[in-house]
Amino acid sequence: MVIAYIGLGSNLSEPIKQVESAILAIGKTPHSQIIQVSSLYLSKPMGPQDQGDYINAVLALETSLSAIKLLDALQAIENKAGRIRKENRWGARILDLDIILFGNDIINTDRLTVPHYGMCEREFVLLPLAEIASKLNLPNGDSVNFLSQNIANNGITRLIPS
Ligand code: ATP
Ligand code: MG
Ligand code: MG
Repeated sequence: MVIAYIGLGSNLSEPIKQVESAILAIGKTPHSQIIQVSSLYLSKPMGPQDQGDYINAVLALETSLSAIKLLDALQAIENKAGRIRKENRWGARILDLDIILFGNDIINTDRLTVPHYGMCEREFVLLPLAEIASKLNLPNGDSVNFLSQNIANNGITRLIPS
């Protein structure tokens, strides 16, 4: 079993509902169990600014799936939510599910780069990740807590559950 950290994001079609139903769907992944879920966060879009703010979260999934099987499962959930892959990178999307970390594995294949290549520059990954795993280190030894405390916050806010 490994613990995978999954980043969730949405800025279309009721993003809070999209993220909440994605969490439920991820919970049904075979050979896997959610062990922690961060708060939801409201963040500014990366790249093109002519799009709505994002809802983001990170969850910890204990799994005996391989990383590629987990990616298949996450992409099936994205597709089921109605994600349409467009040419323009970082444009509005109904659901994005990225593997941020997969245990201590370092993966560099056509379909997978783990740790996620952008995680150390993204406040909407680091803050929710540090919320649920402040003692975690990356495979290179960097501390999640340290990284999260030293990133520009870019206007992100943690949503208080109602
Ligand atoms: P970014 O990768 O900058 O966050 P994105 O999430 O919008 O952008 P997607 O369109 O969701 O990018 O994914 C493009 C491809 O990235 C996927 O088809 C997948 O094969 C690949 N990929 C590589 N590494 C990962 C990872 N760690 N998690 C999810 N997808 C990954
Ligand atoms: Mg992404
Ligand atoms: Mg993605």
